[in-house]
Amino acid sequence: MPSVSKSGPLIIFYILVAYIVIQLGWWGYHIIEQNEEITMLRLAHGSTPERNKIWMVIGEGSVFFILLALGVLKIRSSFKKEAKLAARQKNFLLSVTHELKSPIASVKLYLETLLKREVEKEKEREILFNAISESERLAALVDNILLAAKIESDTYLLSKTTVNLSEYTEEIISKSMPALRGSHKIKTEIEPNMECDIDLLAFSSILLNLLENAGKYSPKQSTITIKLEKNNRAIALTVMDEGIGIPEEEKSTIFQKFYRIGSEETRSTKGTGLGLYIVKVLAEKLNGTITVKNNSPKGSLFELRF
Ligand code: ADP
Repeated sequence: MPSVSKSGPLIIFYILVAYIVIQLGWWGYHIIEQNEEITMLRLAHGSTPERNKIWMVIGEGSVFFILLALGVLKIRSSFKKEAKLAARQKNFLLSVTHELKSPIASVKLYLETLLKREVEKEKEREILFNAISESERLAALVDNILLAAKIESDTYLLSKTTVNLSEYTEEIISKSMPALRGSHKIKTEIEPNMECDIDLLAFSSILLNLLENAGKYSPKQSTITIKLEKNNRAIALTVMDEGIGIPEEEKSTIFQKFYRIGSEETRSTKGTGLGLYIVKVLAEKLNGTITVKNNSPKGSLFELRF
């Protein structure tokens, strides 16, 4: 979790609250004291003393104090949330800069190698394949950032098309994941001929992000299983991996914008923390839900239901 710094404004706020509380106590004390003086004077002049106001001051003071405490708690929690978001945003900027630079540098290196050296046909194919997968990685990252920007500015418009979702899912898996196919075993359990009225971009972004994560957070040569089935009139898309899994206490936070488990110093995987945020928002746009569970015996299981 990113550390929360810059608590300066919060300290000023606490000082102000402490000042208000001291002032409140001071006023209460004076009112009670004046009340006693008035009572004494009235008694000295032989008139009936006013009703004792101590309980009124204590009662009203307590209500004010409770309201103030509730306000302070609310402001404190929203300040902490803002500070965490700002810290994550900073991490995002650092990692996105790196993520954008590294595929560009790799593609440049691959092309320079081809230009400078005579390489065998086989090697040339390998270099070109690597260059293509680096540019695909870059394209996927840019797509994710643009999609997140659209979601943020509320300009993402759903456009539904009737498709054979079974075929479309197979298509996404086979076409867009050449890199994953090289490093992982892909298992599919797709119910055939599932007709559906759906926003294709939202569905493919969800599946691609889940697949990318399954590949990133599981060891090479482990199996990634993708299931598509209809149950109880809902469609369920499941992506399962045999990777590091997600600790119970992180399961709800991973869907927050820019959130990544662990600290920037200890993390070895590349990423921006936008993937699952996009998945969650798009799942809601499809009138669906996204849930995460533990896969058995290990790894994670993400299920989209809509
Ligand atoms: P990132 O760009 O870091 O992958 P995401 O929003 O896609 O961002 O995911 C947020 C965090 O959730 C990741 O940093 C990772 O720690 C965790 N996570 C996501 N998918 C998986 C998975 N399949 N297995 C284990 N951890 C995962």
